[in-house]
Amino acid sequence: MIVTRFAPSPTGELHLGHAHAALTAWEAARAEGGRFLLRIEDIDRTRCRPVFTGQILEDLAWLGLVWARPVRIQSAHFAEYRAALDQLAGRGLLYPCFCTRKDIAAAPTAPHGPDGPLYPGTCRALTPAERAERIAAGQPYALRLDVAAACAEAGPLCWHDRHAGTVTADPARFGDVVLARKDCPASYHLAVTLDDARQGVTLVTRGEDLFAATDLHRLLQALFGLPVPDYAHHPLLLGPDGRRLAKRDRAQTLRSLREAGVDPAQVRAMAGHG
Ligand code: GLU
Repeated sequence: MIVTRFAPSPTGELHLGHAHAALTAWEAARAEGGRFLLRIEDIDRTRCRPVFTGQILEDLAWLGLVWARPVRIQSAHFAEYRAALDQLAGRGLLYPCFCTRKDIAAAPTAPHGPDGPLYPGTCRALTPAERAERIAAGQPYALRLDVAAACAEAGPLCWHDRHAGTVTADPARFGDVVLARKDCPASYHLAVTLDDARQGVTLVTRGEDLFAATDLHRLLQALFGLPVPDYAHHPLLLGPDGRRLAKRDRAQTLRSLREAGVDPAQVRAMAGHG
């Protein structure tokens, strides 16, 4: 049975772009008699607010969406993410990184990957004794994936997108990504991959801004031995100015539309699902 999900981060109010993403997942499940799930991606405790979680559920219900229970709340699962990180660390695929943003920006050669400048690998070269000393001294650190070692272990990988067809994964172009941040015990990439498997998601629908990230998620699936869902990356909804909708577009939030007397069917149509 097909299982899809909508996985918003409660960092603000939902706007029409979110409605489009949620409706895409919901319709894909309904079209094949499957299940539609919700997940609240609130691992970033500095940016997420519980008040937005409540509003998201309310807005989606108002829009007419029905989801299977329970809603998965990522912040309730930090222990699971930790256990997964321990697994990778035990296989020598992670290393602590003490660099600050400034250190990374100051590195002489910083080729760009899909998410910005690639990490130059400074802390990969530290000896076990140097690492232990810095940790003992209380220096904060992130955990990075040794992507070359991980790719060597996983071998060649591909994944399938319903629109783009078969994609050959090239996770190495992200460099040694952070899987646990200094201020947050799991990264988006880690949590999303583990949770899609944990929730039994068989079709991941999401914006095409995350298309490249799927290469990395595919690598993590291989490392953890997880099932590989099908994907359908969709174009992002653009605002009147031709730019993607974002939090700054206050007038386009579902709440403000509803307050202005727009009904759910009209909002669905505005999000391209009339
Ligand atoms: N939480 C992510 C976002 O709000 C969605 C991630 C995903 O669908 O994989 O952009």
